[in-house]
Amino acid sequence: MFYGVQYYPEHWPQERWAVDAQMMQEAGINSVRMGEFAWSALEPHEGALDFAWMDEAVALLHAHGIKTLMCTPSRTPPPWVFDRYPGVRNVGADGHLVNYGKRYTIGLSHSEFIQLSQAIDLAVIEHFAGNPAILGWQVDNEVGGGNDCYCERCRRRFHRYLEAKYGTVEALNAAWGAHFWSFHFTTWEEVPLPANNPQLALEYRRFLSELNVEFTRWRSEKIHALDPGKWVTTNFQSFSARHTDYAEVAKVIDLNGMNHYPPRSPEFILDFYRGARGTVLPVEQFTRLLEVDTGPGWMRLWAYMAIAHGACGVNFFRWRCCRWGQEQHRDGILPHDGERARRYEELARMGAEITHAGNRIDRTRSQSEVAILMSYEARWALQAGLSNPAWDPAEDAIAIHNTLRDQNVPTDALDPREDLSAYRLVFAPRLFSIDAQIAENLRAFVEQGGTLCLTAPSGVVDEHNVSFESPRPGPLAEAAGIRVSDLSPLHAPLPLHSVTIPGLDWTEASVLSDEVHPITAEVLATYAEGWRQGLPAITVSRFGQGRIIYVGTSLRDEGLSALVAYLCAETGVSSLCETPAGLHVYQRVGPNERLWFALNYTEEVLALTPPGTWVDILSGETCTGEIRVAPLDLRILASDIQ
Ligand SMILES: [Zn+2]
Repeated sequence: MFYGVQYYPEHWPQERWAVDAQMMQEAGINSVRMGEFAWSALEPHEGALDFAWMDEAVALLHAHGIKTLMCTPSRTPPPWVFDRYPGVRNVGADGHLVNYGKRYTIGLSHSEFIQLSQAIDLAVIEHFAGNPAILGWQVDNEVGGGNDCYCERCRRRFHRYLEAKYGTVEALNAAWGAHFWSFHFTTWEEVPLPANNPQLALEYRRFLSELNVEFTRWRSEKIHALDPGKWVTTNFQSFSARHTDYAEVAKVIDLNGMNHYPPRSPEFILDFYRGARGTVLPVEQFTRLLEVDTGPGWMRLWAYMAIAHGACGVNFFRWRCCRWGQEQHRDGILPHDGERARRYEELARMGAEITHAGNRIDRTRSQSEVAILMSYEARWALQAGLSNPAWDPAEDAIAIHNTLRDQNVPTDALDPREDLSAYRLVFAPRLFSIDAQIAENLRAFVEQGGTLCLTAPSGVVDEHNVSFESPRPGPLAEAAGIRVSDLSPLHAPLPLHSVTIPGLDWTEASVLSDEVHPITAEVLATYAEGWRQGLPAITVSRFGQGRIIYVGTSLRDEGLSALVAYLCAETGVSSLCETPAGLHVYQRVGPNERLWFALNYTEEVLALTPPGTWVDILSGETCTGEIRVAPLDLRILASDIQ
């Protein structure tokens, strides 16, 4: 199991490195991530490469049993790049050149940047290829964040992208619709940027995402060619970052990496970034956040949260708080003074546990009968067309995920194009855009006996962000047995009435409401007040061997809890165990045993009573009946699979 820290040797005097390496070794650290912002130290002047210091750091750490996850460094160029090649800078949507001094202020398709960045990245890859101290590679840092560009050069490149995709301008007009506000193009060059046209905005988002995927692919291929046998990762940013389709990035790397900064990042992203790959590595794992008061225990608990969700390790960000720079007062295991303090003790405690139990945990994987689907394109399409943050599909996905977690139901989270045959129950919250491939995938899942739960607004637009000419939810309308005629915000929560779904009656609908007309579907719940009184809020339709539930609004709290419990009961999905609030149970399954991670997120002692006999893999204790979990602590319990 990867147990690491982020290390910046370039920030500290060389005589300190041995102290750090020794302290890391004593804390059970087996890996470090290095180099993602090191361009200025690796190439202080154009063409003057200096890898000697990094060689020494890598070798010193290796001598302490610590391997390196080496990063390519090109997305934060040093000042000489901006000075000598001002064309690297990107232009914001407001038309202004972005000042350098922040991170990621470069345009990925600018020829100067492509040339310079490929040169430094290739030099790093060539230099460290074959080094046994290099465990794997990370393509840069947070690929995609911040470098959207709206300059003339990028616009021209976008035109070539459109030409390659659509072939003729008339085909583009036909796909996007024409003549609204006189939008009808006669040449590629007429396509403007930026534009609030929903079709154009979605396509430009897709174009920028493809640039980021290409940036990653080029480096990943070079690493595979020059350093065969090593894996390649990159870190998917927080869920608030919407710039790149990480499901597409995942296709060009070997291991999904991610940033994990709870409570700022929702627990959902651990499952979503693990995705279809089945494992994930938080290469930036929370140590402390300036805006959160975190006492002893939280750092370790949140790291175990990632492992409980299937992570193959954690890499804490970062070893030591930096004395300067834009993140001067932010994360770090060690305080600025470099002395041992409570986070170091917590790191060492967990390090000893991982040394003891890491291989055993590594032999297990997450396993679920429920999946939540989330599509970047649906999210972008909704943002481009409706631009209401409260309607973001992620909000519904996170609420559903939290509810499943509270009921201790293991959950996967996937792109809607992935194979769904392993699941009994699939939620597709606010699946605003649906293309033919997604429609076919979802229909096949339901036909073969799956239960699909869509929430409003779903099936509104096609892959070009054009509204369907057929009734909503578009290609799923017939299978869902409904016709949706309108969508409105709910300015105040509205009570629901249901005799079918236990606990739903008089809970509240909120945020938005679809006007749902059942065709062949049955009504599971209606609105209880207002002009919608008696109108359908939730419907169910049988299709093939399965069924589609359509939730024509947003449920939260007790209402969502009732719906989730009802759907799990209807589909035979069982909760792992009942627990008091604040105690969550997660499961990983291996060939011979299952592991339950019971995490107590409260400052009280809490208990669970799992069936059968369990062994606590950290203490070795055999447990039956009630098992207590100390405040802000966890138990990892193993039971044999018969
Ligand atoms: Zn540009």
